Amino acid sequence: SIPLGYFGGIGRASRHGVLVKGSNYLDVLAKLHTVVFDKTGTLTEGVFEVNGVESANGYSAEQVLAFAARAEQYSNHPIARAIVKAFDKNGEPVSPEGVSGHGETSGSGVAARVDGRNVLVGSGRYLRAQGILPGRDGQRQSGTVAHVAVDGNYAGHIIISDRIRKESQKAISRLRQNGVRRIVMLTGDNAETARTVAETLGLDHYFADLLPGDKVTAFEKIQADAGKGQKVAFVGDGINDAPVIARADVGAAMGAAGSDAAIETADVVLMTGSPEKMADAVTMGKQTRGIVW
Ligand code: ADP
Ligand code: MG
Repeated sequence: SIPLGYFGGIGRASRHGVLVKGSNYLDVLAKLHTVVFDKTGTLTEGVFEVNGVESANGYSAEQVLAFAARAEQYSNHPIARAIVKAFDKNGEPVSPEGVSGHGETSGSGVAARVDGRNVLVGSGRYLRAQGILPGRDGQRQSGTVAHVAVDGNYAGHIIISDRIRKESQKAISRLRQNGVRRIVMLTGDNAETARTVAETLGLDHYFADLLPGDKVTAFEKIQADAGKGQKVAFVGDGINDAPVIARADVGAAMGAAGSDAAIETADVVLMTGSPEKMADAVTMGKQTRGIVW
């Protein structure tokens, strides 16, 4: 039978905006060795804004933004939404006219035919994989960048900013106070941006440039590094990271921003978009253990 304290624990947690899907997870939360966070949408707000457009090879900045927005119009990725919004602000809303063959590669970018040209928009790794080299300026750029290629030639890049959530720093210090030994970040974003976020928040380690499948491999490496029997949690928003949520000893989804699939898969749902709810979850795990034993 389940000790009554557990039901109290789950109820108390839900009143604090943390949905725990089984009493066993309260136990695991109480003795976590490592907590792994996804970057975009979890440690950062995941709300992107276009801050600038750089063009190359004879294209104008206006052309680069127009090609990108028209190619991105069917994508729900926050980067795509930001590019479309920036384009719409400059004049006519983006239209499907002249755009066909849209395809998206999760964690990489999009491809489409725009006015008969092959347009790619995505990460530096995505373009390199197609044999297109982002310009040197694009490579040096720190911050999130969407590179644009037209008919196999580099056309420029769009500089996009996201902000670290105001609760992230506190979440991390509270987890450490509660005995978490290592805090690690995974991201599909570039290493420059990842390093800036990891250094700002004082994280122990980060993995950047990850494809959605690489995130699972990186997570398994972190589990192995933690040691046999040690518990490792993952906190994500479910965009490109639902398989890691499923793999973790405790998989947590950020409810406010999280995808429905992630919320279903998760062991713990953090009902507001704040990573501090993960620290609350650990505190409640410890309190419940204190009551039960
Ligand atoms: P994270 O792992 O930080 O949550 P994602 O896996 O969602 O990030 O995306 C990883 C990277 O892939 C982004 O930083 C971006 O460079 C690129 N990317 C993904 N989708 C798109 C898109 N629709 N348009 C442009 N770039 C994209
Ligand atoms: Mg993400």
